[in-house]
Amino acid sequence: MNNTRVQVVVIGAGIAGLSAAALLSKRGYELCLLDQNWMVGGCAGTYPRKHARYETGATTLVGLEPNMPLGTLARDLSLDWEATPLEVPMQIQFPDGRVLTRHKDLIPWIQEAEQFFGINQADFWKESLQMALGVWDASGRYLDFPPQNWRDFARLLPQFKWKDIQLLSKAFRSTHQWIASHRLHKHQDFMRFVEAQLLITSQNSSQETNALFGATALAYPLVPNYYLKGGIGNVAEKLAQYIQAQSNPIELRQKVVGLQQISKGRWLVQSASNSWECDAVVSAVPVNQTLSWLEKPSLAGISDLRTEDQLWSAFQLSYELPTQLPHKALHHQIHLPEPLPGTQSKSLFVSLSAPWDTQRCKPGHQVISVSTHLGNLLNWKHEMKAQIEEAVIRHLKQFGFMPQTPVYLHSSGKGAWEKWTGRFAGAVGGYPQLQRIKPWQMNSGKTRLPGLFLAGDTVYPGQGIPGAALSGQIAAHLTQKFLKT
Ligand SMILES: Cc1cc2nc3c(=O)[nH]c(=O)nc-3n(C[C@H](O)[C@H](O)[C@H](O)COP(=O)(O)OP(=O)(O)OC[C@H]3O[C@@H](n4cnc5c(N)ncnc54)[C@H](O)[C@@H]3O)c2cc1C
Repeated sequence: MNNTRVQVVVIGAGIAGLSAAALLSKRGYELCLLDQNWMVGGCAGTYPRKHARYETGATTLVGLEPNMPLGTLARDLSLDWEATPLEVPMQIQFPDGRVLTRHKDLIPWIQEAEQFFGINQADFWKESLQMALGVWDASGRYLDFPPQNWRDFARLLPQFKWKDIQLLSKAFRSTHQWIASHRLHKHQDFMRFVEAQLLITSQNSSQETNALFGATALAYPLVPNYYLKGGIGNVAEKLAQYIQAQSNPIELRQKVVGLQQISKGRWLVQSASNSWECDAVVSAVPVNQTLSWLEKPSLAGISDLRTEDQLWSAFQLSYELPTQLPHKALHHQIHLPEPLPGTQSKSLFVSLSAPWDTQRCKPGHQVISVSTHLGNLLNWKHEMKAQIEEAVIRHLKQFGFMPQTPVYLHSSGKGAWEKWTGRFAGAVGGYPQLQRIKPWQMNSGKTRLPGLFLAGDTVYPGQGIPGAALSGQIAAHLTQKFLKT
């Protein structure tokens, strides 16, 4: 067994681990980034297959503005994401053939929504955007949030702005209660639309989602959305190149199986064939994994607050068409007339590669990623995958997203997520966004064990690519502070 000595080991080369490792590399730390998979990116990677590039999971991208997580990362690391802003962030297709366009600007969107649902909603959407921008602004300021002791509190105080109080008051309400305060909760069509939008952005219902998260999720198309040439995995790939350019290695196919504090401030990280000794560890894998490695998990102060019945996994289908679709938006949500068999889901999310993006596939072709949620994880059986695939293809044909036989098609279910990302029960996204879990109750980047830090989408603020990137930035900030003392 090889034993290597470094200052920091970062476990997990998803967006969170890559962000933490890139920032620590910039600050001159000698580190090693480990991942069990054969490529970087985790749920937000792009992999090559049959001459095309396919997305592993994520397809939409926000958070690139200068005060948002990927904007600050780009500035700190002098990176250019080479992103193209989307003119039309998303369209929603209804079973009766109607199409709702989620415009990027507030006023055209309000006009579209009011006309579509036949109800006044201007104040609701104005407040939604205002809350979303407030959440983005506050989460970037409070790098010591959630506080674990009075010292953390003292560090948060200079960042405080009075408008944060207004935001905080919303953290105690569910999204449903907030919608009811605008008297919109009784409009069935509108609520069906809200529930379906929440499912794709916060993986939960309006009753279960905190109003702060709900507003941020619903306003998602109103903050600038981007397309990355070559695929969303370019974020991960650029971060990986940066780390390697600072002479820090990324070791793939290294599944971590043990994590031990060998003395105060000394850690031993173990895979099946190697071990690493270090002064600090950033664990950027789902917290269930970190807990499974520790001899006495209760000492770490980390909580895995999820139960299988509240979790979602994802069914994914990707294909390459020998033609291009006429749609003006790249992202579509399809509302289905009936739930998909065995999924509890009544919608599909469909993302198209940009017609001009010849890095994704041949000119004149298009790569399409389709995903839907898998609920009821306890009763999942592998045979259900074929049944879901058949139903999804039928709907795609019906809604015009598969006008010809694809040149290549493949799909994946719960098992693939367990294997691909090491996630408990194949559960993806969502877990911190429960009404009963307030932002300050989430796992902090800091554990009670000196030198062990956490990042990723099961750690604050952790939802989606920008949330995971911010949790990585927080972990890098905490690690640097620890190593300096
Ligand atoms: C289907 C789907 C669609 C999504 N769509 C969007 C979207 O459109 N926009 C958006 O912003 N977000 C989206 N998300 C969410 C987003 O992709 C994730 O929140 C984010 O990428 C999570 O990053 P992470 O670094 O926390 O975790 P992960 O991406 O899960 O990375 C964790 C890494 O740790 C590694 N690992 C796990 N266990 C071990 C171990 N024992 N040893 C070593 N390595 C290990 C894994 O291989 C993985 O690379 C989507 C997610 C899914 C699943």
